[in-house]
Amino acid sequence: ATYRGASSSAGEWGHTTLVYGGRACRCGARGCLEAYVGAEAIIDRYREARRGRPVPGEDEESQIAALVAAAETSATARRVLDDTAGYLGAGVANLINLFNPERVVLGGWAAMALGDLLPAVREAAGRQALRQPYEQASIELCRLGVDAVALGAATLPIARFLTEGGIRR
Ligand SMILES: [Zn+2]
Repeated sequence: ATYRGASSSAGEWGHTTLVYGGRACRCGARGCLEAYVGAEAIIDRYREARRGRPVPGEDEESQIAALVAAAETSATARRVLDDTAGYLGAGVANLINLFNPERVVLGGWAAMALGDLLPAVREAAGRQALRQPYEQASIELCRLGVDAVALGAATLPIARFLTEGGIRR
């Protein structure tokens, strides 16, 4: 059986709780995954790390690009990216534990821009996920980043699960 949780439920995944009582999310709840790893949230966390100084760039894409570029020399920017990988990895670990997917595919322009974080995301997921399902799952970047944007997921890295046998329908 093939299970495509994804395109339809990625938004809901973004609103699973990562930190109880954590950062305010646009959905009205607190501590959602999206409140940490959505593009807007990443930029907010970077601005806070800069003690409120605005992040350069005219839109979210250029601000994320500025963050990635700054991380080469700035420990502050590096920390924001490392934290992002950790949060995203924890979110992916939740997916792995719940669905035992064969693959988790991260898409959307933010995921593409943050592609260098993939090894750290995998590592963080490995720390949080149950061992057996983690070892059975691959975590990859979606090559169809443009498609993910077309699905309206520009502010959130999407996860798609393409699994065989993980979930019976
Ligand atoms: Zn939310």
